[in-house]
Formats: sequence, structure tokens, C-alpha cells
Amino acid sequence: MTIQKHQFDAVIIGGGGAGLRASLQLAEAGVKVAVLSKVFPTRSHTVAAQGGIAAALGNVSGDNWLWHMYDTIKGSDYLGDQDAIEFMCKNAAKAIIELEHFGMPFDRLENGKIFQRPFGGMTQNYGEKPISRTCAVADRTGHAMLHTLYQRNIRANTQFFVEWFALDLIRDAEGDVLGVIALEIETGDIHILQAKTTLLATGGAGRIFQASTNAFINTGDGLGMVTRAGLPLQDMEFWQFHPTGVLHAGVLITEGVRGEGGYLVNSNGERFMERYAPNAKDLASRDVVSRAIATEIKAGRGIGKNKDAVYLKLDHLGEDLISKRLPGIREIAKTFANVDPVEKPIPVVPTAHYMMGGVPTNLDGQVVEYSDGVEIKVKGLYAVGECACVSVHGANRLGSNSLLDLVVFGKAAGDSMVSEINASAAHKPLPADAADKTLARMARLEGRQGGERVADVGAAMRKTMQTHCGVFRFPDLLAQGVTAINEVAERAQHIEISDRSKVFNTARVEALELDNLIDVAAATMHAANNRKESRGAHAREDFSGRDDENWLAHSLYYKNGHKLVYKPVRLQPLTVEPFVPKARTY
Ligand SMILES: Cc1cc2nc3c(=O)[nH]c(=O)nc-3n(C[C@H](O)[C@H](O)[C@H](O)COP(=O)(O)OP(=O)(O)OC[C@H]3O[C@@H](n4cnc5c(N)ncnc54)[C@H](O)[C@@H]3O)c2cc1C
Repeated sequence: MTIQKHQFDAVIIGGGGAGLRASLQLAEAGVKVAVLSKVFPTRSHTVAAQGGIAAALGNVSGDNWLWHMYDTIKGSDYLGDQDAIEFMCKNAAKAIIELEHFGMPFDRLENGKIFQRPFGGMTQNYGEKPISRTCAVADRTGHAMLHTLYQRNIRANTQFFVEWFALDLIRDAEGDVLGVIALEIETGDIHILQAKTTLLATGGAGRIFQASTNAFINTGDGLGMVTRAGLPLQDMEFWQFHPTGVLHAGVLITEGVRGEGGYLVNSNGERFMERYAPNAKDLASRDVVSRAIATEIKAGRGIGKNKDAVYLKLDHLGEDLISKRLPGIREIAKTFANVDPVEKPIPVVPTAHYMMGGVPTNLDGQVVEYSDGVEIKVKGLYAVGECACVSVHGANRLGSNSLLDLVVFGKAAGDSMVSEINASAAHKPLPADAADKTLARMARLEGRQGGERVADVGAAMRKTMQTHCGVFRFPDLLAQGVTAINEVAERAQHIEISDRSKVFNTARVEALELDNLIDVAAATMHAANNRKESRGAHAREDFSGRDDENWLAHSLYYKNGHKLVYKPVRLQPLTVEPFVPKARTY
């Protein structure tokens, strides 16, 4: 097979919000940048973001970026790095104004300023009461943001490679990253994109679970590439379960519904969040609300035939408000739950939603390794967005902080890539065997008879994760889960794709995505089994409390031998006093 080679200053893998914010920075600086995306960029999962993007603009009531910083640290259950959180919250207002100037059509208040709504865990004056901090475009904020960024990129002459599937990173003997190997899906051709800097912006991996709000394309490809390149993944035990996915469908109902005044009730019609979070009630952090729902269901107070959900009630908000601020939600409820929320409550359950962990980076988006107490930069490699772990979300992300993370760190990474490109001379030579391992991985899928089917192995993985690593985690289930996921990984080595299903290369792509999903699932299971405390979204039955003495640390998972090492949380902000860990109540 001949491999075609291309050279760029920067290659960006992923055309979601993170990738497009970074590519814009690079293209506008005049460097030669390519964006690869396995789907058309505006179909990336960012398009599905509903509720909004946070910034302490103070348009509805007084606000302060320090309050936002405090809420984010508390939301992270103190696992977030305080320097990164300060950087994000301090730069938030600027990032929103910039999006506004790019043409993003934010909803407006009567006085013309950008509309803001309350969101879980966002408070006034260090936890006093909920605040309106989340800027929105009705319930289609991600859609507006992604299209705005895409159009700016067209204007800046970013070069797009659409329906190209990145397979593996290229690293030389010194460990420097020199680009990526990719499959052109339409033709089946293999290409090498050589680059002075490579950015991973491949998004989340929520498809490791059976019930997920994530798109089918969220398969953790960047994380798989990183583990295969011998680099670690950080904090993979922390997965956010969104409290309100539509029962049996998984489709998300935004927290914005509760921000607008909707609330949860159990089968007795009781507004139960008042018992679990007397102050913030339905607007407590997502991990807290999801655990409350799971507890109500376990206690037999679930709704419906199987008592396996609760109701989200919003009929009291009135048709006018629902049509104006939550039109997409009304459609989703009608289509997927067969109820019109103007009249009836929506049956909801906690559903896998967001990956707090990812590829470890510094504040410039540079991927870092950790050795003997020091962080070392991996030359040429960057990561931003949901696939990265900088870490601003720690053990639990606050809703509307992710879209913010994309644009703040997307810009920062773009800037530091421009500096690295300008400081470097020619491209480093590619190793002669750059594509060998990748080609061998692809070759195993060809010509096999009587092997495993992708669909079966994928289903086994999703069931394992759902059963063994859910909202609450039990020691025996976790230990069994480790064995089960290792078995799934073994089965994936014997995948067969039939000749008929090879049409359009989609079967190949699904098999390659499964490799990545399994790496993410294994990292999650091993890290969850090993963390002997409860923190944020990681809630263990046998260690129910947070243990700062032993576990105020990030986990780093290496695929080789499933090794886990731990590094301290950066508790020192950039310019302000640290927020000292304390008990977390809402
Ligand atoms: C339903 C839903 C609603 C949400 N609502 C909100 C919200 O209101 N506010 C908020 O802050 N957050 C929200 N989130 C979270 C937030 O939307 C995501 O974390 C964020 O959009 C991820 O952006 P990203 O750029 O990192 O990745 P994505 O937008 O997922 O983009 C990933 C890109 O990588 C490309 N890619 C992946 N693998 C490959 C490969 N192998 N080769 C080539 N290309 C590849 C894809 O084609 C895509 O272009 C929501 C998430 C979901 C699922």
C-alpha cells in the first residue's frame, strides 16, 4: 500500500468547539493548519450542547469571577487544579464577548445585554444562593457556537479534511510527536500528515456506557491514540451522570430546565431534592442530584411501571416560557418520551454524559508526562476540550463550564502552538516505521473467518461499564468489572468484519473505534477500582467519604500493564489565595 504524505505546521484532530477555536487562532496567525474530522465539523457533538456557557458577566445580578472560581473548585470536589480554574474563570467574560463579536446570536435581556440563566452549582457570594451565570442561545447554545466558529474558520482559510479518520500519533525515538496517520474514509487510503504541532480535540467517549447522552461518534479516539503512544490518561474514574436523560432514550434534557424553574418529583409527588440539598435543591451539583435520584429509585419511590425513573416537572412554567427558552426540549420530550411538557412531567434517569478525565495538559494545552515529581512536556503534542484534562473539572464538572473550557483553552493552545511553530526550523524526519504498528492493527481486521462481531463485543463492553461502574460503585462489582473488561479487550483482538459490511469502510471505522472505546473503558475501570474514597462523581459504597489525606491526587493510567500512578493536585492558584478543601454541601 502506498501511503500519501502531507506537511503542515499544525494538524488538529477534531472539528468540534475545541478544535475550531484552536484552528481559528492558528489560521488567523497565518500558519498552515489542517483540521481533520471524521464527520462534517458542524455535526460534532458540540452541536448538541443545549443549556449554555458560563461567565461571570453579571448581567442579571452582580457577579464576580472569583465566585465562579469558588463554585468550580467546590463542584470539582477539590480535585480541579486551582491555577487552571483561575485562568478559565478570569478569562470567561472576554471569551464570551469575543464569541459575541464573532457573530454568535446570544439570547438577550430586555436591556439588550446577553441573557443569563441559573445552572447547577453556580452561586452568588461563595455558595449563598443560585445565580444566573450561564449565557444561552435558547436551548441550542452549542449549535450556535459551533456554526459561528466554523464560519470564522472558513473566512480564515483553515483547510478541512472531512470524513478523515485519525488512527495513530507518530512519535520518534526521542518521544516527540511528528504528526498523525489517518484513513480517508471514502477511499480507504492511508495518509501521513506530518506536522510541527499536533492537537487532539477529539471530544468525549460517553459511548463506553449503555445509556448515554453522547453522540455515536463520541468514542474516545484521541485517548486511544494517546494510550497506544505510551502516554498516560488522567482521572479516568470520574464520569458525570447527568440527572435528566429521557428514560430508555438517553437523550438529554438540559439542566437549563431546572434553571428556568423546573423540578424533580418522585412517585409520591414529593419534591425530594429539598431533603438532599436544602439550599440549592434541584440546582445542586450534578453528582449530588444523580445520587439523590438513584437513591429514591432504590428506595422504591421511582415512577412508572418499573419504578425506574423520576419525573421532571415543568408544566407550571407555562407554554410561553417553554416555547421561548426551551423549544428544543419540548420537541425532544414529545419525540422521545411521548409527553408534551407543557401538560405533563417528563420521565428521566441519570445518564452517562461527560468525561472529566482525559489527556493531561498544562495551561497552554501542551500534553504533559509526570516523572519523579515533575511535569515534562511532550514535544509537539497538544490536547484541548473534552478529550483533555487540564484539569478544570476535577471530580465533577459544573454544567456550562465545558463550552467555556473549549474556547478559553482552545485559544490558549492555539497561541502556544503558533509560538512553537515560529520557534522551530524544519520538520523533523519521520521514522521509517512510522505507520507499521497502525497497518498491523488494521491488517488484523482483514481476511479472518469465524471471528467476533464488532456489535457483540461493543455490547459486552457497554453492559460491563453500565453494570460495574455506574452512579454508585461497589467493591465486588468493580473487581469483577476489571476482569470483565480485560476479557472484552481480549475478544476485540479477534474481530472479524464481513466483506459485505466493508462497503464505504464504515465497518472498519467501527472496529477501530471499538479499540479506542475499550482503552477508555479499561482506564476507567482500573482507576475506579483503585481509588479507595468517594469524591465528586466517584461514589463508592465501601469508602463513602472523601479522603484528602490519601487521595487528593490525580490518577495517571498507562495502558502497558494497566499501571496507575498519582500526582498531586495543584492547589495554588495563579494570583489569588487558594480555596482550602472543606466539606461539600449544597
Ligand atoms: C447532549 C449534550 C449536551 C451538552 N450541553 C452542554 C451545555 O449546555 N454546556 C456545556 O458547557 N457543555 C455541554 N455539554 C458538553 C459539551 O458539549 C462537550 O463537552 C463539548 O462540546 C466537547 O467539545 P469538543 O470540541 O471537545 O468535542 P466534540 O464537539 O465532540 O468534537 C470532537 C471532534 O473530533 C472529531 N474526531 C473524533 N475522533 C476522530 C478521529 N479519530 N479522526 C478524526 N476526527 C475525529 C469529531 O469528528 C469531532 O469533530 C453537552 C454535551 C452533550 C453530549
